[in-house]
Amino acid sequence: MLAPGATIGILGGGQLGRMTALAAARLGYRCRVFADETDSPAAQVCGAATLAEFADRAALERFAGAVDIITFEFENIPAVAVRHVAALKPVLPRPEILEIAQDRLREKDYLRSIGVETTAYRAISDPIALLRAMRDLGFPAVLKTVRLGYDGKGQVTLTPETNAEDAWRRMGGEIGILESFVDFACEISVIVARGANGAWTTYPPVENQHVNHVLDTTIAPARIPAETAMRAEAIARHVAEKLDLVGVLAVEMFLTESGAILVNEIAPRPHNSGHWTIDACFTSQFEQLVRAICGLPLGSVEHHSDAVMKNLLGSDVATWREALNDPLAKLHLYGKTEIQPGRKMGHVTHLIPHR
Ligand code: AMP
Repeated sequence: MLAPGATIGILGGGQLGRMTALAAARLGYRCRVFADETDSPAAQVCGAATLAEFADRAALERFAGAVDIITFEFENIPAVAVRHVAALKPVLPRPEILEIAQDRLREKDYLRSIGVETTAYRAISDPIALLRAMRDLGFPAVLKTVRLGYDGKGQVTLTPETNAEDAWRRMGGEIGILESFVDFACEISVIVARGANGAWTTYPPVENQHVNHVLDTTIAPARIPAETAMRAEAIARHVAEKLDLVGVLAVEMFLTESGAILVNEIAPRPHNSGHWTIDACFTSQFEQLVRAICGLPLGSVEHHSDAVMKNLLGSDVATWREALNDPLAKLHLYGKTEIQPGRKMGHVTHLIPHR
């Protein structure tokens, strides 16, 4: 067990690191952030930060030397950087889990290998392979970069009219994955936490509404039958156990009209769809991460309120004052000064207390 007073190193300086550091501080831990940008959301709330590129091995070594344990808050931290620090200090979740999640093909191959259902997909290495796969899978289909894509970046929706060469160029990656488009009834996600002793908890499935491929609203819990919720939680637990996860993992799923659950992707870190847990649950996903990696008992995931979490994307952040007109709205701003369209600037959680 790593007792309070120890220092947790966080690779990445975004809002997930910020909220992790805030939860860690309440439990008496210190945090040091490794970020490649100045004044990052996480560094603003941490006592210590290492500001360097992820390719800077000496800086990574200094960082590892100054912390007791390391976690990550951003999926696209270069695997070599994570492996470099892992040789010096424990990294949780295991770096191998991050590497699976960083590669959409490895991720889907892995999920299938452990008996988890996904949409049909094909690996694509050039426009000719794409043409073949388009005939194979039919339409609509989604072409995605295998690496470094998130929030819909590097994704192209294909119809029978789409020109393969054109789609390949628009995707912009070196290797792609073509996926059958899922005509889902709704998108849900489950966040599972697991400790080193195998103890686990799952938050109830939540319903996620995306706009332009970016999460816009999370409704917690999801408005789905109890039996479906149980199946979704069982899938998340199964994935966490197979991965030998220590930490938290978000499992994004499509729920089809016929009640089938297909896993879209996994993220071995706190997740945007779990932000509601800060204000509506006895233990937030961030505190649960700290407890899991430090070897503390996991907290209760019970929720005392239902919640609707709305992301403040880009210029939406200007509405923060109106949000506060609802006394049961909890405002979270990430300290980002530069507004860009679609950029996650903050979120508001509207609570619906159980009476
Ligand atoms: P991703 O980056 O894979 O999470 O994709 C972002 C969003 O695009 C998802 O949350 C879905 O709304 C949509 N999407 C991605 N892949 C598919 C698919 N195969 N079928 C239907 N919608 C998809």
